[in-house]
Amino acid sequence: APFVVAVDGPSGSGKSSVSRAVAAHLGGGYLDTGAMYRALTWWCLESGVDLTDLDAVAAAARDLPLAMSADPAEPGVLVGDDDVTEAIRTSQISARVSAVATNPGVRVALQEQQRDLITVIGDEQGSVVAEGRDVTTVVAPDADVRLLLTASEEARLRRRTVELHGAADEQALEATRDEVVRRDRDDSSVSQFLVAADGVLTLDTSEMTFEESVAAAIAAVDA
Ligand code: C5P
Repeated sequence: APFVVAVDGPSGSGKSSVSRAVAAHLGGGYLDTGAMYRALTWWCLESGVDLTDLDAVAAAARDLPLAMSADPAEPGVLVGDDDVTEAIRTSQISARVSAVATNPGVRVALQEQQRDLITVIGDEQGSVVAEGRDVTTVVAPDADVRLLLTASEEARLRRRTVELHGAADEQALEATRDEVVRRDRDDSSVSQFLVAADGVLTLDTSEMTFEESVAAAIAAVDA
């Protein structure tokens, strides 16, 4: 059976970079479940689906023509013929993705696709690191290793600001604060931020550099 690693955490916890580094370390595949919610949000906006129409958005989730690269060095996302790898990272999408992700019909549809992808990638590559908000609890509760990456709100805000603006000056921090605080609040029903489920190892990365976070995650995976 393939080796499955599940990683959850909020925005700015370092979960994406750490997950990709762990996948590269294992020489296996990578699945970013958040990218799927983002791709669906992009597709609904692109095709004029009203995000408040729960049934229409859930139907779009079931029909989403999604293709994702499982290469941790180059995680690309296609919707139909459109390469949306960059487009799904804009603040326009970040501001709307929670509305899509809290739709119960969407969650059922995407969780099922995520389980299928974990099986396919794992079978092809021997191992898979899947990251998101509910991977340790709902999508892959039977994963071989389950990690929750956390960090203080200040640490997460700083990282997210550098990610989005290249540097963390006062103005950039303020511009990002709104996104981080609002998304934490909007995601609170689907995310497990602070308390790990039974059997899930918590890594608080607040005081860690990127390299230290990666080393701690790899130590947990290799243990
Ligand atoms: O990980 P990322 O911040 O890119 O995820 C984008 C959004 O997708 C989250 O804010 C959340 O609303 C949603 N999400 C989710 N369940 C997951 C992964 C992401 O609801 N497993």
